[in-house]
Amino acid sequence: MRLNSKITLFFLAISAALIAVLVAISLYAFRSFSIATATEHIRTAAEIVRVHLTEAMITGVIDQRQQFLKRLTEVQGLKSAYVIRSPLVDQQFGKVSRGEVPPDDIELQVLQDGKPQFRVIENGDDLIFRGTIPYVANARGMPNCLQCHQVRDGDVLGAVTMTMSIAPLRQQAILTVAGIVGAVTLFVLLLFVLLRHLLRPISDTANAVEAVVHQAIEGNFKGQVNKQTEDEIGQIATDMNRLLEFLDKGLNRIGRDVAQLTGRAPKPGENLLSATIDMVEGLTKASHFKQAIEEDEAKIEIYQRLATTFQDEFRLNEFSIYEVASNKNEMSTIIVDGTLNAPCRWCNPQILDRPETCRARRTGHLVDGIVQPDICYAFNQSAQGEERGYLCFPIIQSGVVGSVVQLVVRDEDKERIQAALPYIQVYLREAAPVLEARRLMETLKESTLRDPMTGLNNRRFLEEYVETLVANVRRKRSHLAILMLDLDYFKMVNDTYGHDAGDSVLKAISQVMKQSVRASDMVIRYGGEEFLIVLQDSCGDHAFQVAENIRQTVEKLRINVGGTVLQKTISIGLADYPDDSDTFWQTVKFADVALYRAKESGRNRVVRFDPEMWTDKHEY
Ligand code: GH3
Ligand code: MG
Ligand code: MG
Repeated sequence: MRLNSKITLFFLAISAALIAVLVAISLYAFRSFSIATATEHIRTAAEIVRVHLTEAMITGVIDQRQQFLKRLTEVQGLKSAYVIRSPLVDQQFGKVSRGEVPPDDIELQVLQDGKPQFRVIENGDDLIFRGTIPYVANARGMPNCLQCHQVRDGDVLGAVTMTMSIAPLRQQAILTVAGIVGAVTLFVLLLFVLLRHLLRPISDTANAVEAVVHQAIEGNFKGQVNKQTEDEIGQIATDMNRLLEFLDKGLNRIGRDVAQLTGRAPKPGENLLSATIDMVEGLTKASHFKQAIEEDEAKIEIYQRLATTFQDEFRLNEFSIYEVASNKNEMSTIIVDGTLNAPCRWCNPQILDRPETCRARRTGHLVDGIVQPDICYAFNQSAQGEERGYLCFPIIQSGVVGSVVQLVVRDEDKERIQAALPYIQVYLREAAPVLEARRLMETLKESTLRDPMTGLNNRRFLEEYVETLVANVRRKRSHLAILMLDLDYFKMVNDTYGHDAGDSVLKAISQVMKQSVRASDMVIRYGGEEFLIVLQDSCGDHAFQVAENIRQTVEKLRINVGGTVLQKTISIGLADYPDDSDTFWQTVKFADVALYRAKESGRNRVVRFDPEMWTDKHEY
């Protein structure tokens, strides 16, 4: 209920109660007053009658009492008056039948107990007050009752009943009460008007505050409260306006700052407050994401975190993350629909071999396949039953497109994802420099672990990797075959054809070795023209076969160096981990011992390590 209605209702109720109480009290007071006045009047008249009757008895004119009573009614304003004799008087003086009225119940009662009785009687329009006053015998005064009456002191000799109209008194009471009620009503009305006048600024201000607060909840802080008075109510209006202005400015500033970061500005008519909360929340999450990826060690963890963000934050389960190879000639899928290293699903796989066919990779711009479904020819529309939209974001690293993130969007998600686009871009923007840093680190590390001339891993790589390698073998209870290889009379190549020719031979033979083993096997340039090969899950004859195969391939290899065709041979020592030794490096040493034996026994051969080679002559 509004304040105004409440005040009106309250006033009406209080006024009604006040007037009712006033009327009740006034009427009661008037009634009591009227009765008291009439009683007194009748008592006085009764006393006059008593004096007169006594006088009349003494002077012997008691018979004329009716005339006296008649005159009395005229003088005293009474309606009627008559006397009743008690049976005691009748006993002494005999019954008088003429003009006597037989006593009614009230009078009989009065004659019996000697107590006056008064009644108010409604008689049509008139209001009658009736009193019956007893005459009680006593021995006081001169003459006194007992001198003539043969009764005892306290006996009732008779009574007089008189009536008088109190209607005029009632009339007057009603008029007076009406006057009072009128005056009070007028006063209450005046008070009401005054109070309304005083309360108007309060209720107006309250209404205005309510309205602007309502607007503020809707996100509009432009409302103002009109200041009507200079008191505390006016202060409320001023403070409210200051608060609104402060919020409006503050939210606009936050909104602008956030909009700069996200590229998302509140739309016209959008709830400024919820838009700001929304934007700040989005940024906070993005900031947590940034912190998390900065502490991630490898690129793949960052890609995985991005994938989780798409799934959890943006409720997208269909997406691809591609990475462009450092040589820029290839692309590979990193994550597809949340699965690591899954095959290319959402694009024509030719983009992997020809990255320039990926529009995002080529242009370095966002490719919006929601707005323009046909923008990219490489998008694989036939990969799904229903038509999908797509968004492809290039992630720029070191000035070029290093990765491409592709979001595949169902019809029902299009609007939602387009609205979320600024946030998605915030995530990608945060990820880009971190990915770049990790990529540089990985390239750098890669370069320190790889021999640039042959492209093979170097000894340092083996040193770093050996722990993982050995742990794997132990876990799987498998074997490693270690091949130590050294070119025969290689110094001669350098001496005869020059260092460059030597390098060419090393490169060619490196290729042979790489091609002769599986991808999971390791070929390491161990020293100048010394190589080490680790064959995984391989032992015994198989390892020997691989070594022998390498030896034969090298032997047959014709290397064209500046018009001259060279042929070289290679010696190979072979040892098994953990059959020959339970430590990896000891096994390497044993392979070297076997190699020494191969050299010693004529070169161009494969020699398997035998424990007696160790105990025999070599004291390493
Ligand atoms: P053998 O192993 O059969 O006993 O005779 P070798 O002539 O191969 O003897 P050794 O292993 O001692 O000679 C290694 C030679 O390889 C010495 C060095 O000039 C040459 N060499 C090492 N690294 C490189 C390289 O990177 N490029 C070239 N061109 N030559 C290298
Ligand atoms: Mg050597
Ligand atoms: Mg050699």
